[in-house]
Amino acid sequence: MARHYPMSFCPVCGARLESRLANSKERPACPACHFVHYCDPKVASVALVEHDGRVLLVRRVWNPGSGRWTLPGGFVDCGEDPRLAAARECLEETGLEVEITGLVDLYYGQEHAEGADILIVYAGRALTQALSPADDADAARFFGPDELPELAFASTHQILAQWLAGRSAPPPTRS
Ligand SMILES: [Zn+2]
Repeated sequence: MARHYPMSFCPVCGARLESRLANSKERPACPACHFVHYCDPKVASVALVEHDGRVLLVRRVWNPGSGRWTLPGGFVDCGEDPRLAAARECLEETGLEVEITGLVDLYYGQEHAEGADILIVYAGRALTQALSPADDADAARFFGPDELPELAFASTHQILAQWLAGRSAPPPTRS
């Protein structure tokens, strides 16, 4: 995984790291201050926002996938609730405020060197209407099942295939 850079020096005290057995695995560890570097997975979360039978997508500015479409989302910050991360990224990329309403699915596996190891897909409900793409997106709009654009990632295809399959079920009734 290219994004997980090897570490040579202790980020706490600056001493040269050594390899040491910690938690049943050889890991970079500091002989001076007992810091151990654990290579943790990167986590991203996305919002699957549906409105009037159409799904919200954003067009990516950056590579990989520049010019292609995906769900609004991004990396979860350390200490951040992944649900709030999905809502935050959606607001940043589309201008829409959303309420996260449930968990759709979770994907494991990095698609590219800059990608997440774990992707959490939440369902979201739009609380506002005006779309104003920004940040990592230069366009944002809702697409119906028959008008989906060119998608950026295999995970985007999988999530939307799941969304399309779920749409064949009758809509839930509310009393
Ligand atoms: Zn140290």
